[in-house]
Amino acid sequence: NRLAVAGHPSFRESVGGKVPLGLRRRVLRVLVTGGAGFVGSHLVDRLVERGDSVIVVDNFFTGRKGNVAHHLQNPRFEVIRHDVVEPILLEVDQIYHLACPASPVHYKFHFFSKSFTNANTSVLLIGVRSCYDEGKRTAETLTMDYHRGANLEVRIARIFNTYGPRMCIDDGRVVSNFVAQALRKEPLTVYGDGKQTRSFQYVSDLVEGLMKLMEGEHIGPFNLGNPGEFTMLELAKVVQDTIDPEARIEFRPNTADDPHKRKPDISRAKELLGWEPKVPLHEGLPLMVTDFRKRIFGDQEESTE
Ligand code: NAD
Ligand code: UDP
Repeated sequence: NRLAVAGHPSFRESVGGKVPLGLRRRVLRVLVTGGAGFVGSHLVDRLVERGDSVIVVDNFFTGRKGNVAHHLQNPRFEVIRHDVVEPILLEVDQIYHLACPASPVHYKFHFFSKSFTNANTSVLLIGVRSCYDEGKRTAETLTMDYHRGANLEVRIARIFNTYGPRMCIDDGRVVSNFVAQALRKEPLTVYGDGKQTRSFQYVSDLVEGLMKLMEGEHIGPFNLGNPGEFTMLELAKVVQDTIDPEARIEFRPNTADDPHKRKPDISRAKELLGWEPKVPLHEGLPLMVTDFRKRIFGDQEESTE
């Protein structure tokens, strides 16, 4: 077995650059499906930083090579273009299964593959978003069947609304829509009366939760989300304050099966994983805005600021 240095650089510094043998850990080979996507690529960053050997399997449906390009020279990193609906044989210690057409504008057009690729969260059975909800539910059932039937070690996360750099710009989710609209000087599109609530989690908090879940002893399911609750009108106000106080709001009809409230109860994750989110919306949003500004306007706009 090869050995890797355990832990964060600050840990290595604290022990004078030398890590006692007993504290070293074996290099894990970790597969991240959907690793070129938003959440997956941030997870990959943390795994690589930890010294793991990382394989990404992604069909680039919504993901981008650019999200992981900074690891391509690393011999401990590889990307395989592959659709997870098809079988693939890989020897790995851990699998984070994140591949899934996750954005509302995309998954409505790929309902079939959606139901097969999901693996992590139910509302209405025949609504436009049901392929997503039912896919997640089926995946939980299958995951537990594999656990019981094949004695496979499994973990289940129920991920709540997450935002941050590298989100798909035009994926139709509310945070990415509002941020892109405010930057492009377009009106912020509030669906319905804007009084429905969501809880927004910064991506680094989610990644920490996923890793704690994987390394811990509990199967779950665990809710991973930030319990701070905002109406869409309140979110629009935070976006205005962060980007452009002059940004206008335009009301649009809402989808029929839109949940009025989504707020995670994270008490189990707090108690059993010792995890809770740390980054509030007003701190996380500017980090996402910097990334969106670069991607929408390019470096030229950046240098003029
Ligand atoms: P994303 O679209 O950025 O990432 C998904 C990745 O999976 C993309 O890189 C895409 O190319 C890849 N992919 C899709 N179908 C595939 C297939 N058949 N084979 C191989 N690769 C495939 O979305 P994300 O926000 O990073 O979501 C990651 C996971 O987290 C998904 O399972 C999603 O349902 C779940 N999730 C995300 C949120 C959120 O707010 N971001 C909320 C709840 C659940
Ligand atoms: N929403 C909105 N304007 C937009 C996009 C979404 O007001 O441009 C609303 C949407 O109707 C929902 C909430 O924002 O009530 C969150 O939508 P999203 O698709 O981001 O997440 P989900 O509904 O899956 O929780």
